[in-house]
Amino acid sequence: MLSSADIKQAALAVGFDDCGVARADALTDDEYPLREWLHRGWHGELTYMEHNADKRMDPRLLVPGTKSVICLVSAYPPPDSVGGTAAYARTREYHKDIKQMLFALREKLGIEGKCCCDTVPISDKHWAARAGLGWIGRHTLLVTPRWGSWVNLGEIVTTEECDTYDTPGINGCTDCNLCVDACPNHALDGRMLNVTRCTAYYTTHHQRELPPDIDTRGYTQGCDICQLACPFNH
Ligand code: SF4
Ligand code: SF4
Repeated sequence: MLSSADIKQAALAVGFDDCGVARADALTDDEYPLREWLHRGWHGELTYMEHNADKRMDPRLLVPGTKSVICLVSAYPPPDSVGGTAAYARTREYHKDIKQMLFALREKLGIEGKCCCDTVPISDKHWAARAGLGWIGRHTLLVTPRWGSWVNLGEIVTTEECDTYDTPGINGCTDCNLCVDACPNHALDGRMLNVTRCTAYYTTHHQRELPPDIDTRGYTQGCDICQLACPFNH
């Protein structure tokens, strides 16, 4: 059995900024309204999201026998200007760095486990929320109390059991609606993102033609506008 305290210490030692450990079971439709989002067609041409929906909702289907999801946070600098390239893309390509840190952590812990960062059918942000690292904001991103939503995420899904598990934290959005109101394209309803109205959907996939009624506010890769509206990001 793994010690949760040892995992967190090892996570910081390999370079992550925060770590939480969640017991592996199924996410609920309230936590992650994936099926409703697909039903609405709000995923646009992201047809890969239609596949493996069951695995996205339950990591035990991704790795049989999974007991624990070790969730990791790596913070990145907030943007110092508006427009152009979104904050996440201003630093070097993060997937490689996160993957290397995940491999290093897995080796340090001496465990078997699947290292996940964006490309595996598991919802990074919903598991991070489960592991008490933050909550899902009305812009549908993870908000951490310390770094806001300026974070990259990764997980190790493992059949190892842990001595203690973290629980979801309190949702800090309360009655705020600033991110929803800030979106120039009305892409957010407070629970879900309609990607077909989102600047990032068009500007990070350059083969998609930008509809004339999408207001990019000067962004050419991604978009930070809803995140910039969030008090936790200041
Ligand atoms: S990233 Fe931009 S376009 Fe997309 S929901 Fe946020 S503010 Fe709206
Ligand atoms: S802007 Fe307000 S509603 Fe949106 S994520 Fe931040 S706190 Fe939550």
